[in-house]
Amino acid sequence: MKSIHWLGAMVALLALAGGCTSGPAVKETADAIFYNAVVHTVDPQQPKAWGIAVKAGRIIAVGDSSAVFALKGENTRLHNLQGAFVMPGFIDGHAHFSGLGASLQNLNFLKSRSWDEIVAQVAAKAAGTPKGQWITGRGWHQEKWDSAPGGISIDGYPSHHTLSAVSAEHPVLLRHASGHSLFANARAMELAGVSAETPDPAGGRILRDSKGNPIGVFEERAMALINDAYDAYLAGLSDEALKQEWLAGIALAEEECLRKGITSFQDAGSSFDEIAWYKDLAEKGELDLRLWAMVRRSYGEMNEGLSKGFPILNAGDRFFTCRAIKSELDGALGAFGAWLLKPYSDNPDFSGQNTTLVSTVDSIAELAMRHNMQLCVHAIGDRANRVFLDIVARLSERRPEIKNMRWRSEHAQHLDPADIPRFAQLGVIASMQGVHCTSDAPFVVKRLGDDRAQKGAYAWRSLLDAGAVVTNGTDAPVEDVDPLLSFYATVTRRRPDTGLIFYPEQALTREEAIYSYTYAPAYAAFEETDKGSLIVGKLADMVVLSNNLLTCNDDDILKTQVLMTVVGGAVKYQRK
Ligand SMILES: [Zn+2]
Repeated sequence: MKSIHWLGAMVALLALAGGCTSGPAVKETADAIFYNAVVHTVDPQQPKAWGIAVKAGRIIAVGDSSAVFALKGENTRLHNLQGAFVMPGFIDGHAHFSGLGASLQNLNFLKSRSWDEIVAQVAAKAAGTPKGQWITGRGWHQEKWDSAPGGISIDGYPSHHTLSAVSAEHPVLLRHASGHSLFANARAMELAGVSAETPDPAGGRILRDSKGNPIGVFEERAMALINDAYDAYLAGLSDEALKQEWLAGIALAEEECLRKGITSFQDAGSSFDEIAWYKDLAEKGELDLRLWAMVRRSYGEMNEGLSKGFPILNAGDRFFTCRAIKSELDGALGAFGAWLLKPYSDNPDFSGQNTTLVSTVDSIAELAMRHNMQLCVHAIGDRANRVFLDIVARLSERRPEIKNMRWRSEHAQHLDPADIPRFAQLGVIASMQGVHCTSDAPFVVKRLGDDRAQKGAYAWRSLLDAGAVVTNGTDAPVEDVDPLLSFYATVTRRRPDTGLIFYPEQALTREEAIYSYTYAPAYAAFEETDKGSLIVGKLADMVVLSNNLLTCNDDDILKTQVLMTVVGGAVKYQRK
């Protein structure tokens, strides 16, 4: 770190000195200057600035107008930010990149308010989809529509005709929000061999009009007729076609993240194939934001695969790194999967699930040591977290250096108060997601009871006060990838819809919450010399926002707009 400060100071000095140095005068000039801004640098030495000058993807000056304009050359691009708020780009510390992509490829009808709206969504999708390719979606619910569907309506369902008219060349499969029925268009029914003569299968129902013709709705076991046709289509796709589909999802995920101010994304679990594809994209200069990935496979596969070129560090000009392994000790609280020290309050005979044998996680930890990789263990329940901390404690007796390897508890959601100080003592990072707290709030007290919920649920404040590194993120596509929603949850612990507040004494300050989304996740990835604050020498990754996240009122956090997202000095998103 020192050397970078020194290098930056020298660069600035040389630039200012200009012709005073011996030899030919070389004036350092910036590629771009971002100015007239309220810059929150996340650098304690110089917390505020007015502008930033960038060259070759890195910051060469941060400061007032004289500091940045001293580096202005003839070809410097100038960005007047008109008083907007600038901070280091958001780093999502735990989410699923290809999962986010897939969720964006499929249509989502959770917010659709009429059948006509759904038909219009399918029509728009069909216009951009090659003929013959299936269009899939989920989340429709006829009870949530503002108006009844026009034309024939059976049991409140529409018939397929308007849908089939806009998708004649594409089979369409739209899953109900409940998962217990689906809607198919004429082409999908044709491929499935469904006609008026098809009998209802046992345990299922094909909805029909007065003449006996299927209207497109298949309930329960009748869904298999359409699902089988879709599975046959997938089975017929080549590896190359599947990769193209994956790539299309990745492009959507990139666009979505940049639109929401994310400049780095920590992917919580990819296959070896995906990691090879990411590396390839990075090396070809085709990634627009930076990825840091955990590999997630069985012990056997990792034991073999990791000997081939791992860890992968800073591929493609620091756009892709894989230096971590993912494992998991338990499931999630909502489904009684979190592994607890004591039984669930609303399920007194049950203490949750241990999903990977502790001995296997032990072996994976050895693997991580051997390959100099970080170990990131999914641990939601207090028992899962204690077991993970115990694994680290046991190993560090033999290998003290493990405390510096920045291993991570992914979620670290429910903790026994006795374990909170152990995070800092053992160097274990609490990789948390602010928005999970408010999403889960309606059922946490039911599951854990008041005492456990108050003392150890989403205990960011206690962890920070005990010296732990706490990172932030969204677990997208489980939650919306929007960092502002998670930031809001982190500083208010309040649900925007119902106003329910979950133990507000654990809230972070604005400054701490920004840190949890910038410097802390950079540190948690061994990337703090490149990312996480805006200082000379670091990558010029930043976000420009319409509100000052340090001073705006709580409600305005949710109204904040991302005006610009900058990665390596290049404007990758700009609000129109
Ligand atoms: Zn996850």
